[in-house]
Amino acid sequence: MADFNTDVRYIKGIGEKKALALGKLGVFTLRDLVSFFPRKYEDRSQYRPIALAMDGEQVCIRAVVADTPRLTRIRRGLELVKFKAVDDSGLVDITYFNQSYRKDSFHRGDEYVFFGKMEVKGAHRSMSNPVAEPEGREGGQTGRIVPIYRMTAGLNQASILQAVRQGLDLCGEKLPEILPEEVRQRCELVPARYAYEQIHFPADFGTLELARRRLIFEELFVLACALGRIRGERVREGGIPIGEADLTEFWSSLPFSPTGAQRRAVEQAVQDLQSGGVMNRLVQGDVGSGKTLVAAALIWYVWRSGHGSAFMAPTEILADQHYHTLSGMLSPFGLRIGKLTGAMSAKEKREVKAALKAGELDLIIGTHALFSQDVEYSNLGLVVTDEQHRFGVEQRSALIGKAGKPHVLVMSATPIPRTLALIIYGDLDVSIIDEMPPGRQKVDTFTVDESYRARLNGFIRKLTGEGRQVFVVCPMVEENEDLPTPLKSAEEHAKELQSVFPDLRVACVHGKMKARDKDAVMAAFVAGETDILVSTTVIEVGVDVPNAALMIAENAERFGLSQLHQLRGRVGRGQHKSWCILVSDADTEEVRARLGIMTKTNDGFKISEEDLRLRGPGDFFGSRQHGLPETHIADLGADADTLQRAQQEATRLLAADPQLVLPEHTALRERVEQLFRENADSFN
Ligand code: ADP
Ligand code: MG
Repeated sequence: MADFNTDVRYIKGIGEKKALALGKLGVFTLRDLVSFFPRKYEDRSQYRPIALAMDGEQVCIRAVVADTPRLTRIRRGLELVKFKAVDDSGLVDITYFNQSYRKDSFHRGDEYVFFGKMEVKGAHRSMSNPVAEPEGREGGQTGRIVPIYRMTAGLNQASILQAVRQGLDLCGEKLPEILPEEVRQRCELVPARYAYEQIHFPADFGTLELARRRLIFEELFVLACALGRIRGERVREGGIPIGEADLTEFWSSLPFSPTGAQRRAVEQAVQDLQSGGVMNRLVQGDVGSGKTLVAAALIWYVWRSGHGSAFMAPTEILADQHYHTLSGMLSPFGLRIGKLTGAMSAKEKREVKAALKAGELDLIIGTHALFSQDVEYSNLGLVVTDEQHRFGVEQRSALIGKAGKPHVLVMSATPIPRTLALIIYGDLDVSIIDEMPPGRQKVDTFTVDESYRARLNGFIRKLTGEGRQVFVVCPMVEENEDLPTPLKSAEEHAKELQSVFPDLRVACVHGKMKARDKDAVMAAFVAGETDILVSTTVIEVGVDVPNAALMIAENAERFGLSQLHQLRGRVGRGQHKSWCILVSDADTEEVRARLGIMTKTNDGFKISEEDLRLRGPGDFFGSRQHGLPETHIADLGADADTLQRAQQEATRLLAADPQLVLPEHTALRERVEQLFRENADSFN
């Protein structure tokens, strides 16, 4: 008997070759097969009289073969089978290219349903390579709404469709209902069996929508349950106990008061630290919102209990910057602070590692070097990672893994819409810093086109004359990209600028340079030794150059809005009035709308929501940087409402049955476990 785990070869018509092809599409078992959802649908449910079909229209016609098909060889490699077909309204010439077997499959007088593109020239109508099914056998590829599947060599739509049909017939009755009845009722979702049937063989567009709604919910619900379970387990593990301390002492040492949002984030983290579990908290805040201070307060807090902290930054420059900032805030209290980066000499590294092992440091700040094999920690209580999307879940857990179960604080400057944060950081609790320190200046933002180049250069001249520095960012140009317009590559643009401003110091930094060279160029800019820094987006992440007052983005249409917002956050960090200028010659409505958002708001969350809406989550996160399992039917951006609903239901369910051990949750537990198995690397 076939069940879900039966190999697809079990299906009639699926031999070795087709099974291999299906494997390329990720389909190995009957379960995969029925879960192989169509990419789109074509409405072939309506028949059209031949004479009424318009030129270029995709139509279904019902017609009788009117003569005997003729095979002609035009030349080597081009064979035609031609015949005429008629209905009450008119006649159409049907041609098949290089399918000579078709000559014998059509017989004069047979009635067929043809689906294809009608071409009309004057009174002459023709169709090339239409899908054809004998009249009365509709329900395959004609006469209804037909699903279109992703395709690969060795398969065609008809063979997939037949396989799916058999798959549903063989095990459709055994489709487990993974949604608890109560959830299904509350959210008004159709039963599983019905949804799987209708997603492949919709009766009409209404039932298709019901099926989609149910399956999208189901997918997000399983994901939310999986992430919820991880979170549940983490919290129950015994955390390093951290005693109480009075933060007033720390706050009053600062030259300014913390914002309400900073205070709130710290309080939430302190609660985690004292909960008995392990803290796993994400602090999300726009560029410049003051996340470093939150980290500093918590480092101070665990130090009061006699525990050390590690602070991991994504680049050497940032590690340096954090080292200076944090030393400034914390060493007056007597914290012993060290730094560990790849650029340090072997001797320096050795000394720092020895000090770490001996427990002589209360805070270590560094790059990836922090989790290299030979680093040993003593008494580590807290790990802070900055700009976490640069690290990925894997690296984060590498550091955490080597130090027992320290509390973890993750800081991210990529504002993510709240709904999405819930699922992407589903294993983390989230604090949001939604308030800027007082007195922040707005960075004025403008969009200009190439005709402003001379004025733009004049502006660079004026600002550098006043002693300010300028960032110019060019989009990454892939080598094999075939582009209609000349795109600025960072290196070329730097040369151009150097010739316009021979007296100014122009430097260039891009991703293809060695890390050490990159850091040297960056360090020179930070130190004010360069006037103009031309770069690719390598400078996107948190570098602080208070003297920089102008950010120019070339070919701005090539950047995502969130990325532009990050870039803009590089200026306006000091006391100088700052500007951001987006240069773009792309003159489409879509580009204008996107760049327009940048000129209208400085709110990173608003921008990210717009960005997500306009571009979808794929682009938003780059190539699956978020490390979430791929979704089959749900779209994390477009289905945000459903996501929220699924998340709520999952939370509710897990509160009642954290381990999913109740018999009515067995099918759900199995699906969650399957998700874990198939995505081991996303959930480590
Ligand atoms: P980000 O969130 O981008 O990492 P930072 O932590 O680098 O932001 O802070 C940006 C700047 O704001 C720093 O110069 C910091 O000293 C300053 N800052 C942070 N918190 C406050 C505050 N509450 N009041 C005034 N300035 C603050
Ligand atoms: Mg920062």
